[in-house]
Amino acid sequence: MSTKVETFQFQAEARQVLDLMIHSLYTNKEIFLRELISNASDALDRLRFESLSKPELIGADEKLEIRIESNSEARTLTIEDNGIGMGRDEVIANIGTIAKSGTRELMQSLKEKKSSDVLTSLIGQFGVGFYSAFMVADRVTLVTRRAGEESATQWESVGDGTFSIADASKFTRGTSITIHLKTFEEGSDIDDFTAQWVIERIVKRYSDFVSYPVIFKDRQLNSMKPIWTRSRSEVTDDEYKEFYKHISHDWNEPMKTWSFRAEGRSEYQALLFVPSEAPFDLFYTTGKFGLHLYVRRVLIMEHCEELLPPYLRFMRGVVDSADLPLNVSRQRLQEDRHIAQIRKWLTKKVLDSFEEMQKAEPDKYVEFWNQFGRVVKEGASFDFDNKDKLMGLYMFESSSDSGGLTTLKDYVARMKEGQSAIYYLTGPSRRAVENSPHLEAFKEKGYEVLYLVDPVDEILVQSLPEIEGKKLKSVGKGTADLGTEKDLEEKSGEFSGLLNALQKRLEDRIKEVRLSSRLTASPACLVVAEDDVSPNLEKLMSQARGEKTVQKRIMELNPDNEIVVRMRDRIQKDENDPLIDDFAHVLFGYAVLAEGSELQDPLSFNQALVRTLGRSV
Ligand code: ADP
Repeated sequence: MSTKVETFQFQAEARQVLDLMIHSLYTNKEIFLRELISNASDALDRLRFESLSKPELIGADEKLEIRIESNSEARTLTIEDNGIGMGRDEVIANIGTIAKSGTRELMQSLKEKKSSDVLTSLIGQFGVGFYSAFMVADRVTLVTRRAGEESATQWESVGDGTFSIADASKFTRGTSITIHLKTFEEGSDIDDFTAQWVIERIVKRYSDFVSYPVIFKDRQLNSMKPIWTRSRSEVTDDEYKEFYKHISHDWNEPMKTWSFRAEGRSEYQALLFVPSEAPFDLFYTTGKFGLHLYVRRVLIMEHCEELLPPYLRFMRGVVDSADLPLNVSRQRLQEDRHIAQIRKWLTKKVLDSFEEMQKAEPDKYVEFWNQFGRVVKEGASFDFDNKDKLMGLYMFESSSDSGGLTTLKDYVARMKEGQSAIYYLTGPSRRAVENSPHLEAFKEKGYEVLYLVDPVDEILVQSLPEIEGKKLKSVGKGTADLGTEKDLEEKSGEFSGLLNALQKRLEDRIKEVRLSSRLTASPACLVVAEDDVSPNLEKLMSQARGEKTVQKRIMELNPDNEIVVRMRDRIQKDENDPLIDDFAHVLFGYAVLAEGSELQDPLSFNQALVRTLGRSV
């Protein structure tokens, strides 16, 4: 065997995570063992999958298991599996880098937040389980041999930013990880991880359900009982939590745990979890989602995306079906009618459970909504079968005094007499929409307005139906229809001079100038025609396309505003009043800024503003 040793640098992100682990104040250090057992269990799963098409990978070494050995004198702990193992390049790629999208964002947020709880929760999201060994180790040695290969590789690091790679000899397939434990201090609050009772306790506590035997001193420590087949009363909350952490690689506890069972013509069971935090990659196409699919207790697929619609992709958990063949392939899944049936059943169960949560635990539901509402809203455009249910689950910010989120139904219940529609305004943020002049008359009448400030809301409103017979209407589109339109018509005559003069000066920027019933304080605002795109959506679309398009809007004037009235009078006297050019300019710019949009030509706006000021000073 050659003994050539090569030294490699950890990727920058991996190094940072490693540093965090080594200096972590996280007190629950024992979970490193859970992480390593989880990895071993994954490696055994992977071997089983690959052996479906290549049985020779398992060969004679067919008892798949995880072995733990400890040596109190040498202060080492070894976790060994006869799973898939890794080739040399895989070791370097998998153990030296964190190859997940969003890692940079993770590191950024780690920098901003200091608390060790936040650290571990963020680290958990990225599944950097292996590095947790460095919470308890001075040095970690990993020897691995890929199934079907002859050669083995040794990886070793003291966690100082580099690791070494060398050829090794290993007679069996799989991975063996030896942890050289830090010095044990009698009386410290960290257990001696080489002690038999400590190992037994940790395995029992965190890894009891692992579906391969965990062997220590020739004894199996875990019961291997699939947790979802046991009745709810038999399983403790802690066991559910540990199972969740095992399958999700999340270090946080789940927000909710639900178990469902269908009996009758088809038989399936599901154990589902709502995570407590949205993962970073929820909106990345590279994110890995899907439930674990079992067929009669045998794991078939780790990330089966067909079991729930994409708008519920944040759910974690397990589905076990008695009706599928064991060798079901990924392609077949998409057409399989059992899978379609499970998906329909499970979707309804999940939505029902959210509905219950909304009623029974409204505060918790809002927590859930703040994490995952953006995804659930995608459902409105795709899941027509569950449209009504989804409508009930959706929550929005609004102008209501409570300042919180509201459902559409609660909004309708609060509607004022004479109010004919559900009003909303879309925009980039609550701050931007809540100060928008478009709301003035609605506020004065006591009409609540929904603030739709998620980018997905623009698409959502297009698929929202009537709610209890009430249509949704944007306060920034079309006419306001507040019942004062007749007065406007009468006034239009008086203002025609001003309207024409402004129209002439702003021709290249606007479609029309007209009087408004939606303003009570501001002099002017910009609206779009009923069927046109809102300025917010226009901005989102041009960002997506990478080019700027500006559609012409309609400018509305407040006939009761003092400035507007005075300008009307001046124009009536002299339709070429020298003030009108700058007046048009400044008024248009004002309306753009007031709704939170950007000026196309700030320079000429500023010049017009200064000239106007000059006159009045
Ligand atoms: P995660 O398990 O969340 O991917 P880890 O840092 O724990 O993150 O592991 C990184 C990768 O190293 C794993 O995805 C896997 O490819 C590989 N790995 C870790 N432990 C083992 C093992 N016992 N056998 C085979 N591969 C392993």
